[in-house]
Amino acid sequence: MTSKSCPLCLPKDEAVLSQDQQTRVIEVLDPEWPGFRRVIWQDHVAEMTDLSADQQLEIFQKVLAQEEELRQQYQPDKINLASLGNMVPHLHWHVMCRWRTDPFWPGSVWSTPRDPQSYAIAGRTVQVDQWSALGEQARAVRYPVFVLGQAVTEDEEWDGLDPVSRHALILQSERPVATGRLLSLGAGVGRIGRMAVLENARGQGLGLAILQALIQEARALGFDQLILHAQLHALTFYERAGFVTEGPVFEECRIQHRQMRLTFRPPSWQNQADTPI
Ligand SMILES: [Zn+2]
Repeated sequence: MTSKSCPLCLPKDEAVLSQDQQTRVIEVLDPEWPGFRRVIWQDHVAEMTDLSADQQLEIFQKVLAQEEELRQQYQPDKINLASLGNMVPHLHWHVMCRWRTDPFWPGSVWSTPRDPQSYAIAGRTVQVDQWSALGEQARAVRYPVFVLGQAVTEDEEWDGLDPVSRHALILQSERPVATGRLLSLGAGVGRIGRMAVLENARGQGLGLAILQALIQEARALGFDQLILHAQLHALTFYERAGFVTEGPVFEECRIQHRQMRLTFRPPSWQNQADTPI
C-alpha cells in the first residue's frame, strides 16, 4: 500500500543503512545533527496499532537495534525515540542522540534552544552559544590556528560534533580572536577542546578567559568533571585553572598531548543521595 503524495512512500535521496520487506533504516544526513536515524515501516500505515502484534515487535526491535549502535558509536547522554507523523502520517520512528551540550538540552529537539550566554571574565566579554550562532566566527579562528598553523587536516578539525557542542568566542574590534568548545562525553563528563587564539592576539590572557567561560558554562549545565587533551607546552596553563594531569603522553593529530581533568564533584552515579527524575 502506497500513497502518491507521501514522501516516505516515494523517497528521494535517502541514505539507506538496511532494509527488508517490512522496514527500512535510514541515516538522516543532517549537518546540524550527528547520530540521527529513522526507522520506517515500508507500507503506508499511520499508527503502531495499524500493525499486528508481530509487526509491532518487528519495528520496535529495529528501533532498539539502532539505539544500541548509536550508543556505541557516539556515547551520547541520552537517546530520544519519537514517533510523530503529524506532517507525514506514514509510520516512522526517529532515533536521535542527545548531548548535554546540544542546543536544545534538556528539552526535546523541537523545543526552544538554550539562550546565548555572556560571561564577564577579567574585564572581557566571552560569548557562549551554539554553533549556528558562533560557528562562522569560530571557524575564522580555528582554521588559521589548527589547519594552517598545526597541519591538522580539515576532516580532523571539522569532526561533525560542533553542532552538539557549546562554543566560546571573544571579539576584539568586532573581529573573532579566540575560541574554544565544550562537548559532552556522557556520564557527566565534558570535554574542553578546540582552544585557539589568533597568533597576533596571544599574550593577553584571552585563552584563560575562554577556558574560564567554558568552565562556568559546564557548571551551569551540571557537569561533574571536565577533561581535555593538552599539548605539552600548555600543561601549566591548564593547571592554573585547576586541571590535574593524568596518564601518559599520547599522540593526537600527530601532536603530543596529555589528558587533564578538573573535578567539580564525584560522578553522579556515585552519589547515593541523588533523587531519581
Ligand atoms: Zn507513505
